[in-house]
Amino acid sequence: MCDHAHAAPAAQLVDVSKMDRRDLLRGLATGALVLVAGCATNPETGRSQLILIDESQLQQASLQAWSEMRQQTPQWRNAAAQRRLEAVGRRVVNAAGRGNQSWEFVLFDSDQKNAFVLPGGQVGFYRGLYEICDVDDYMATVLGHEVGHVTGRHAAERYSREAATQTALQVAGTQINSQLAMAALGLGAQVGLSLPFSREQEAEADILGINYMHAAGYDVRQAIPFWQRMGSGGGSRPPEFLSTHPDPDNRIARIRAYITQQGWG
Ligand SMILES: [Zn+2]
Repeated sequence: MCDHAHAAPAAQLVDVSKMDRRDLLRGLATGALVLVAGCATNPETGRSQLILIDESQLQQASLQAWSEMRQQTPQWRNAAAQRRLEAVGRRVVNAAGRGNQSWEFVLFDSDQKNAFVLPGGQVGFYRGLYEICDVDDYMATVLGHEVGHVTGRHAAERYSREAATQTALQVAGTQINSQLAMAALGLGAQVGLSLPFSREQEAEADILGINYMHAAGYDVRQAIPFWQRMGSGGGSRPPEFLSTHPDPDNRIARIRAYITQQGWG
């Protein structure tokens, strides 16, 4: 939504916004100045984003969310699996140029085929997902995608988009809504507010992830069978990763096209 906000008068924000109509109207009620003030270009993607939460606030919220997550879900104690997760994780974050920030990789003992990341670099990987990661390239597909959410600043953007719709938002977003921050980090269940990543963010994380995989020396072509396997499910209900990460067929087609375009196929 920020693409032209720097130069555009307030009236033109209507044309350039990617927010839906309802959000936009509420957002404008908070003042176009907020929108303009919060725009930042992400050096990783070149995309201009609405960011109304600063890095230290995000780190603080991540720590709190991580602590709650770890209290609620038992860890999966498997030393070999832990070593493998960390080895692949390190390779991916180094390839993403983020080896100098702190990362934590934790296996959770749950059947869910799911993984998540917090903006502070905390990565949760569920046993159910680990168990279908036959090859490291599959794990790298997931971890590349999750790291892409961090470098893409998606949680901050998700928070900011939602905050812009809240009439209680203080001028220039200096006051952080902590419940909203928790929801933006994926703790929606606790606060009764679910904020999934947008399709645009999911697609961006996929592409960033493929780039990191490639830079790390993994076989990016393995992303295709991995997502096919995720899509085939195998249970009566779809894997949770898919319910929060929609459109398996479109995703595979997009990834395949990107790999071909890059000459990596
Ligand atoms: Zn995702």
